[in-house]
Amino acid sequence: MQILIIAVIAVFLIGLALQFWYLAVIGVAAYFAPRVIRFIRMKKYFASEEFLQHKSEIQSVVAEHNEISQYVDEIRSTGKFSIGDSSTGTNSQLANFKNTSKHAYKRDKHSANFGSSYVHNASLQVVRNASIEPIKYLIKYFDIGVTEDSVTEIEQLGETISRLENAIKNLESREDEIAETFAPPAFILKYFLEEFKSQVGLSVPPLEVPYPVYVFQYLSAGGNSSQVTEVPLNTKTIDALLETLSQKIKFKKSAAGQRSLMTASFRTFIKERDHYTCKACSISIVDEPHLLLEVDHIMPVSKGGLSVDANLQTLCWKCNRTKSNKY
Ligand SMILES: [Zn+2]
Repeated sequence: MQILIIAVIAVFLIGLALQFWYLAVIGVAAYFAPRVIRFIRMKKYFASEEFLQHKSEIQSVVAEHNEISQYVDEIRSTGKFSIGDSSTGTNSQLANFKNTSKHAYKRDKHSANFGSSYVHNASLQVVRNASIEPIKYLIKYFDIGVTEDSVTEIEQLGETISRLENAIKNLESREDEIAETFAPPAFILKYFLEEFKSQVGLSVPPLEVPYPVYVFQYLSAGGNSSQVTEVPLNTKTIDALLETLSQKIKFKKSAAGQRSLMTASFRTFIKERDHYTCKACSISIVDEPHLLLEVDHIMPVSKGGLSVDANLQTLCWKCNRTKSNKY
């Protein structure tokens, strides 16, 4: 596409230069004509009987999609997405950093972003070692306690993140199916996908999980060089963190062997055990292929419930939301 634009501009300029003005006109027309035609076809399609008919047929599918979309917003706004923090950044929001050196190196960009990430300023050695053993260094430099409470806290973070990941995946598969059953002309999907979604009535939240990103950063005294190791706290990191912590601590509440770690694979195990069926309303993936299922603590963790097989059940997102609103 860029090559095309450059070619058009080149023809235009050459045309002008040679005073072949009609070449310039042809060039401009060649560029805009297909776009205008495509735009008119798009407008026509969205106003067509066929489109409106389809749209009313899938009204309930769209409504359900939008409910889950709202659920994604809820998880995002109520969930906790961080754990631990570096002591080097404590209270640094109280100070203003100014670069007063004569050489205007852009050091300011290295300042910590407290909205989404945690930055630990360290020696070059620590930054390099953190890239080799991220879990070990995360625990050590971000004050993640080697305690049972810490495990519980990380499990809850993992739960929020996995709920969000699942709900987003679920939305995407629903959107794919809507596009598939709708089967609009190919050019609509290629050039007007967002317009298509909005014309169909899909409300689309940002489809990204706000993973906390932990940063080990070395900045040389002169500000010339900087090296960084980033550890995103995604499901894989969280699971590895849980495994590492559990090997180091002795659990008090229950015998170490009985308690299960709430990892991604364990949540899958519970869903399999329950045959992908909601324990409250009995809906299953047989009834609804796009069913969004979650794993729930029957007695909530906040009330002393343990992560043991007997205290875990599969719920559909609706039943789980109703239940968690009660607490
Ligand atoms: Zn249910």
